[in-house]
Amino acid sequence: MPRTPEAQYRYNQERIEARRQNPRLNAGYLKYMKGYYEARKDAMRAKSKARREALRLKVLTYYADGSPLCKCCGETEMAFLTVDHINGGGNKHRRQEHIICLYKWLHSQWLKTGKYPTGFQVLCMNCNVGKFRCGVCPHKK
Ligand SMILES: [Zn+2]
Ligand SMILES: [Zn+2]
Repeated sequence: MPRTPEAQYRYNQERIEARRQNPRLNAGYLKYMKGYYEARKDAMRAKSKARREALRLKVLTYYADGSPLCKCCGETEMAFLTVDHINGGGNKHRRQEHIICLYKWLHSQWLKTGKYPTGFQVLCMNCNVGKFRCGVCPHKK
């Protein structure tokens, strides 16, 4: 008995659905898709990391007046360097401006006004924390 068009449609849909739910048929495809996304995820992560690092370098270079180094101890290792609020109040500032990433914020100010905000300097993590805890970096005491 020939199928009506509706019955044929239902039959097709059922077959598609069955195929979709058949893990044996899907395994290869899913594996392939997962591999695709994994590979892209890594590439995307690497790309955004590179972008962040480039931004950091740009901001640190500006505030260090040339090649980035700690204004207090002269540390040049990029991984240690930070932007410091010269007059303190970093946390308050962060809250006020809803800053998640200070580098991004500084850069956005630059995009808006054509210049970086004043009141910042480059310090390494040690000097930054030293200054925060003691008021002035222990190096300077
Ligand atoms: Zn330092
Ligand atoms: Zn210091």
